[in-house]
Amino acid sequence: MSRKLFIAGNWKMNTSQAGSVDLAKALVEAIGSVDKVDMAVCPPAVYLSSVADALSGSNIALGGQNVFYQDNGAFTGELSTAMLKDVGCKYVIIGHSERRHVIGESDELINRKVVKSLADGMSVILCVGELLEQRQADQTSEVVTRQIKIGLESVHAADMASITIAYEPVWAIGTGVTASPAQAQEVHAMIRNLLAEMYDESVADATIIQYGGSVKPSNAAELLGQSDIDGALVGGAALKAEDFAGIVQAGM
Ligand code: PEP
Repeated sequence: MSRKLFIAGNWKMNTSQAGSVDLAKALVEAIGSVDKVDMAVCPPAVYLSSVADALSGSNIALGGQNVFYQDNGAFTGELSTAMLKDVGCKYVIIGHSERRHVIGESDELINRKVVKSLADGMSVILCVGELLEQRQADQTSEVVTRQIKIGLESVHAADMASITIAYEPVWAIGTGVTASPAQAQEVHAMIRNLLAEMYDESVADATIIQYGGSVKPSNAAELLGQSDIDGALVGGAALKAEDFAGIVQAGM
């Protein structure tokens, strides 16, 4: 089965009002009409509207970095799916390792967000990945399996077309250390087998599994060349139009 590559940029808590618009405009200029690869950027929530304007008419979609599982009410600081969609988001990142390990989100909370986002018609990038000490203790498969099983609890096969899994070993995020293509491929293949067990072969074959962790133009082609790596979730290199465009071009 041939899966279309999907490259997404996670801008995290970076940029500014003017900087986010400049970055979005530079991306539109460089890769806005690419159609061989699916693309999205996820700016800070306060800049979503202005970035949406800058991306308008291009092939680069917009995503949020987080969402809450309620529609509205007394949830200070949170954002609903309706709010994200209102400003043009198609995607939402859920369960990023910084939200798991810095903010303290549990697999159960992440699952509630996944289920709510799917119910409200959003496409989800569900992030999973092991800590360095878990890899060193040979627990990668166990940790990733638990994150996926709980994260996707009560998600039906019919909704899996709206799920992208991002495998991001925590020790490779923002560290400059990349998992080797073979290390990443091994976990991606394990994830695809797990999806076949949880759903069926056709869901497993069709699901996009991105790799994330210090992806840059110089290592993208080799990572994206692995049979079970279907794209990238990019942090640091997504903040430079030239680098993000280089990663997209490596996938073409
Ligand atoms: C990320 O934030 O998802 C990420 C992979 O970051 P970086 O590319 O900087 O490692």
